[in-house]
Amino acid sequence: MKSYLTHLECTYCSVTQSADVAHRVCPDCGKVLYPRYDLALAKKALDRSALKDRAANMWRYFEVMPILDEANVITLGEGYTPIFQAARLGEDMGASSLYIKDEGLNPTASFKARGLSAAVSKAKELGITKLTMPSAGNAAGAMTSYAAKGGMEAYVFMPKDVPEANRQEVLITGGNLTLVDGLISDAGQASKARAAEEDLFDVSTLQEPYRVEGKKTMGYEIAEQMGWTLPDAIIYPTGGGTGIVGMWKAFAEMEEMGWIGSERPKMFAVQSDGCAPIVRAFDNGDEFAEPWQNAATMAAGIRVPAAIGDYLILGAIRESGGGALTVTDDEILRYMRKVASLEGMFICPEGAATAAALSKLLSDGRLSSDDNILLLNTGSGLKYLEVL
Ligand SMILES: *Cc1c(COP(=O)(O)O)cnc(C)c1O
Ligand SMILES: [Zn+2]
Repeated sequence: MKSYLTHLECTYCSVTQSADVAHRVCPDCGKVLYPRYDLALAKKALDRSALKDRAANMWRYFEVMPILDEANVITLGEGYTPIFQAARLGEDMGASSLYIKDEGLNPTASFKARGLSAAVSKAKELGITKLTMPSAGNAAGAMTSYAAKGGMEAYVFMPKDVPEANRQEVLITGGNLTLVDGLISDAGQASKARAAEEDLFDVSTLQEPYRVEGKKTMGYEIAEQMGWTLPDAIIYPTGGGTGIVGMWKAFAEMEEMGWIGSERPKMFAVQSDGCAPIVRAFDNGDEFAEPWQNAATMAAGIRVPAAIGDYLILGAIRESGGGALTVTDDEILRYMRKVASLEGMFICPEGAATAAALSKLLSDGRLSSDDNILLLNTGSGLKYLEVL
């Protein structure tokens, strides 16, 4: 298989950069860089009907993935997770056509595996051997797992109150863990300082160009698994927003390759009312989101007070005709129990937030009972035993 990666492009000022050397953010404006592909050639090389013969993981879309040499792919089998019809939950909630894509079935038990498989593989291809990252949750264990498999060194900086599972997965995979007395922003400072001292490459989300390429494969899979017809709405628990902007990128790429038409799902971003910078910016009609003060929610993956890709998230949800809304931690817990008892799925709090959001969207009429609706369950509830 061959990748049709051509270059990097700034999503804000459109300046282009070479994809042959390591970059983090745009050197001109400091915003997010996206990998770009020769999609006309990719389209000729890969007919969507040929996908059925490919391995059931996210690397089946290799032509539009950023690794040039297949030998550099570090994989634990991430992606191609199932989409289940949630008939009993749908009946309970009054949604006749409700689906859940279960990202909890990924290696490391969350969809962070997708982004880190892509980013760690690309770092390896570019000759980088030492990685660092601040994390409040699942990204850390995903990074250290792929670094372990790739024989690379990994440093992680975490607030000292992160969930036990997230600490243990870093340690057992051989990551260098530093617990920071403070918040994720303090962990970020510590990671930056160490990166400068020891020449570590920082793979914070959307602050390097390749994690989004792993997460965009959710968009490819949704199209492929639903027979190349996208759902009417996708509800996504939004932290850094890499998944939502990744799916949005995938839809544009697929349209350019003639795999789907111009219709898009309404994209809904869900946050906790204890940390909702994107919802506030959406409601205010702002292009960027102000950092959220005193962020608090047990849904660690969406406790992200400031996102570098805020303008991309807000752009996607507005263009899609979707929206942004909050749920409370109580609602999250209630829906964790409801989804488990009706569907047999022990989903994570972030995933449960999408079900709680759906009930609001149905009652305020933004979605209707016969819409085809997809919830993203982004991880396994087994990583969050403390919150129960
Ligand atoms: C990181 C994370 C999220 C948020 O993902 P983004 O793409 O950064 O918005 C949601 N759920 C879980 C379980 C996570 O680990
Ligand atoms: Zn720029």
